[in-house]
Amino acid sequence: MTVANLLDFDLEGLAAFCEGLGEKRFRATQLFRWIHQRGATNFDQMSDLAKSLRSKLQGLAEINGLPVISEHVSSDGTIKWLFDVGGGNAVESVYIPEDDRATLCVSSQAGCAVGCRFCSTGHQGFSRNLTTGEIIAQIWYAEHTLRQRLGQSERIISNVVMMGMGEPLQNYSALIPALKIMLDDHGYGLSRRRLTVSTSGVVPMIERLMVDCPVALAVSLHAPNDVLRDELVPLNRKYPIRELLDTCRHYLAAAPRDFITFEYCMLAGVNDTDEHAQQLIDLVKGKIPCKFNLIPFNPFPQSGLRRSDASRVQAFARILADAGIVTTVRKTRGDDIDAACGQLAGEVQDRTNAKDRMQRKPVAVPISIRRLDGSENQSR
Ligand code: SAH
Ligand code: SF4
Repeated sequence: MTVANLLDFDLEGLAAFCEGLGEKRFRATQLFRWIHQRGATNFDQMSDLAKSLRSKLQGLAEINGLPVISEHVSSDGTIKWLFDVGGGNAVESVYIPEDDRATLCVSSQAGCAVGCRFCSTGHQGFSRNLTTGEIIAQIWYAEHTLRQRLGQSERIISNVVMMGMGEPLQNYSALIPALKIMLDDHGYGLSRRRLTVSTSGVVPMIERLMVDCPVALAVSLHAPNDVLRDELVPLNRKYPIRELLDTCRHYLAAAPRDFITFEYCMLAGVNDTDEHAQQLIDLVKGKIPCKFNLIPFNPFPQSGLRRSDASRVQAFARILADAGIVTTVRKTRGDDIDAACGQLAGEVQDRTNAKDRMQRKPVAVPISIRRLDGSENQSR
């Protein structure tokens, strides 16, 4: 008989599991609280749970976290953990403490099939989806390890962003129960505004998320027109900008915030000119309530791309802001431990089929940028 990993179940799932053992539903709530609120690792710890249930669970179920391969602590307090997910694959999570909140950046896949040009995870190819339990193991471990270290019993992680490795909306069936566990008052008690799914734009799944679990949405835009976005975010060829923006607008009807966050990775000479900023304004102004979050590109070997100068990022931000679009520039955290956006490399056995790999590489080929007037220039 297979042993169930209880980290795989949201409260509904755990209730069904307990009912299958002939136990009342409220037992599931007790069990769930032990696991997620108290970080229990075995059933003997669960002192208020009937002995009969505890012995029933032995052998049928376990609380199975992920082995930690390494931990890096940055001088700014950021912590990066590398977790072993088996088969030569590893994923990363990053803890980012700030004055008024503490954010955990969580991975959803080993590798990623989208293959964005500027993303280290994308360059590794795709290995496999994480299970719900593997997604939850990241917050379960971080929350309870930090509580122990800081000698604190109150909740530490106040925000979660699904911005680690992987495209969360391409792992939808594992993602939804994971989000529900994070939102559950008996689990991690996050509010929907403090739980963000970041996506490169999987349009049909944004529509489903709206119905199943409408949390805050961040969309990785990175380009103001389809020609450029096709190159930077290959998924754009399937779901072009117009369609993506229509879906974002629709999502707002259910979203916990009244705007969509657009992430925009600033790549020198590629997507960071005044003209690009103007195109962005034309795309969104008066059409969709949104905020822009400009992310200075975090370089990694083989990207062949450069970070825009700080002055260019500021000038770009100013153009958007002057047009009335709320714009922030993301602070880079954990630079000294390679914990910044897009640097989460983990270790992934690329199981993308060889044909796709050949199409994606070599990675150092210059991106050709077609200007609005149809001329081309080459940029690295
Ligand atoms: N797959 C999802 C979530 C993970 S990536 C998505 O693409 O949205 C989280 C964010 O980091 C995305 O906005 C992504 O575009 C950005 N990112 C990826 N590589 C980066 C890099 N090298 N420098 C800066 N940001 C990067
Ligand atoms: Fe995948 Fe997001 Fe990286 Fe693109 S940016 S390759 S979607 S993880």
